[in-house]
Amino acid sequence: MSSSPTALWHPFADMFEVKSSSFCVTKAEGVWIYDDAGRRYLDGTASLWYANAGHGRTEIVEAAAAQMRELESYFVFNDYTNPPAEALATRLSELAPMPNPKVFLATGGGEAIDTAAKLARQYWAQRGQPQRTHILSRGNAYHGTNGMGTSIGGIEANQAGFGQLVPETGRVVHDDAESLREAIDRIGAEKIAAFFAEPVMGAGGLYPPEPGYLEAVAKICSEHGILFVADSVICGFGRVGTWFGVERWGLQPDMITFAKGVTSGYLPLGGVVVAEHVADPFWNEPGRVFRHGATYSGHPTVAAAALANLDILEREQLITRSDALEGPLHEALKQVADHPAVAEVRGGVGLLGAVELTAEQLQAGALPKLQKKIRELGVIVRPLGKALAVSPPLIVTEEEIGLIGKAFAEGLDSLV
Ligand code: PMP
Repeated sequence: MSSSPTALWHPFADMFEVKSSSFCVTKAEGVWIYDDAGRRYLDGTASLWYANAGHGRTEIVEAAAAQMRELESYFVFNDYTNPPAEALATRLSELAPMPNPKVFLATGGGEAIDTAAKLARQYWAQRGQPQRTHILSRGNAYHGTNGMGTSIGGIEANQAGFGQLVPETGRVVHDDAESLREAIDRIGAEKIAAFFAEPVMGAGGLYPPEPGYLEAVAKICSEHGILFVADSVICGFGRVGTWFGVERWGLQPDMITFAKGVTSGYLPLGGVVVAEHVADPFWNEPGRVFRHGATYSGHPTVAAAALANLDILEREQLITRSDALEGPLHEALKQVADHPAVAEVRGGVGLLGAVELTAEQLQAGALPKLQKKIRELGVIVRPLGKALAVSPPLIVTEEEIGLIGKAFAEGLDSLV
């Protein structure tokens, strides 16, 4: 279970603790992962929300290897391009819910967020409204750990101790559309560039949207000319039953950030789907350059892996698989809803769920204890906020969902 320490500095980790006790994953297949002692665990979180197609897909491996033999990498700045990057952008553009969008590729979700936030400000500058710089987001939100993502995140602990973050950013209450309206009244719509929201709030503790909330905030944004950016880094590629998550609520955002499930994690990729009207000044008027981009944007091997992953998601109808499985997953978790250590069970929207512990249990430090106990029982779950979250690969079976529920029940019993 634990391996000897190395120089690896783990993200979001107390290295004082982790240096003497880490959990080494050496192999994975389907919905299962294996530790360095050869023990297998059900990957109840699809790694970090991303192994949508499941582990061990040789088809993706081969697509990446074939591309590497042909052209491992070349940049796409200026007029340079390559066939897989073009094919991926076209395919994502056709799958997206807005008509004729453009696709900016990045290497992960945080980079996608920085791209979208910078583009929002730059769009308004190009449109002759340079004072539209404010970016609103939600309390409890997680938008990655890059500069913009850290600044617009709503989990306060993730901002503490980093000095001054990006100015002209602000948070509204995460489940109350009126709070957005109030912020707009206070700041002035003419100063606001964009509003960012995750369709289902993920790392902040797994909160599905209140009925009507997303539709309401999208409408408020459109009434005030504020760009609505859906952060679908978690919710995309089948996690909530649709390609980009937002279609579930009938939304057509001005931008959609994506990552994770676009490659099922086989290689790192993120990006932004940009609605036609936002891309318009840059694409249809000369001399307007978006001076932004990362070295590995449009990386052909990564794009080839993404295309192979999209083939699998499409062919095996994994995008809509949560239609049949979100009910059973929610039911499996709800079986512990009355447990004395449990405050609330959330989910029922896609293959996402969470079990929140009571204040008393949280105070007693039960969350990490329960996570480790459930892992000992052979299931991977993840502490987020006050809850343990699950987001299994989309290939999970009902029987395997039953194993997740059973591990929660047994783990919780060990607490009281
Ligand atoms: N946005 C959301 C909603 C996320 O959940 C995450 C990562 N979990 C990010 C952005 C940042 O993505 P990355 O870690 O790839 O930078």
